[in-house]
Amino acid sequence: MIEAKRISKSYGRVKALDGIDLKVESGEIFGILGSNGAGKSTLLKILACIVPPTSGEGWLCGRSILKAPTGVKGLISYLPEVPSFPDKLTGRELLEMVASLRRLDDSAAHAWEGLAKKLDLPELDAPTETYSKGMRQKLSIILAFFHEPKVLLLDEPTSGLDPKYSRVIRQMIAQSGVTVLVSTHSAFLAQETCSRVAILHRGRIIASGPTRSLIESASATDLEETFITLVGRCGDERA
Ligand code: ATP
Repeated sequence: MIEAKRISKSYGRVKALDGIDLKVESGEIFGILGSNGAGKSTLLKILACIVPPTSGEGWLCGRSILKAPTGVKGLISYLPEVPSFPDKLTGRELLEMVASLRRLDDSAAHAWEGLAKKLDLPELDAPTETYSKGMRQKLSIILAFFHEPKVLLLDEPTSGLDPKYSRVIRQMIAQSGVTVLVSTHSAFLAQETCSRVAILHRGRIIASGPTRSLIESASATDLEETFITLVGRCGDERA
């Protein structure tokens, strides 16, 4: 469902990604657990066709990110690390605009109402410029989930949310029934929701596999300890 082949990305002299290979099967929840600056957001932006790779190729639902970016964007949902909205629009106007752009029928177009209730976001008639960080994140989550995409690319989905709503988001991911690639710093989120995890460090995948096997192979008690052990074995230099 999601495939990355030898994806690299350089920003000037900084090599943000260095030869990333990845396969995520249909219906799988796959986690990218990474250190700060590891390249997680860059990888998600490339797969969401927001920025081009310097080299390599990727496919989502069988469509090439290089040759068919518009087709890819129509099938997926991308949750950015930092939500950005047209500030003068209200949450409701924004949701209606996305429903119209995605040509959703009437019942699908109102699916966001249930999510707004679940996430306790009643302020949908206020301009988004008045939203707190957590409210912006909740609106961003609703925008990502409500139109039932085939693939969810989620960059730090619980960022800015309190423990109660972080748990709600973890449950939404686990129950989504679609293919999910989620990037996070949270070993807890990755361990709880992802069947497989890749650890990204300084632009490279340094380990990947079923979550339980990764923990066992590092002789660790949990994914947090696994991450610290494996990253600790790597040098500090970016390739
Ligand atoms: P964090 O966990 O801190 O959010 P990340 O794993 O998401 O980081 P990226 O944001 O992908 O990492 O950044 C990877 C590297 O690429 C970093 O060294 C960063 O400084 C660099 N980088 C990212 N975007 C740009 C850009 N637009 N221009 C220049 N360098 C960039």
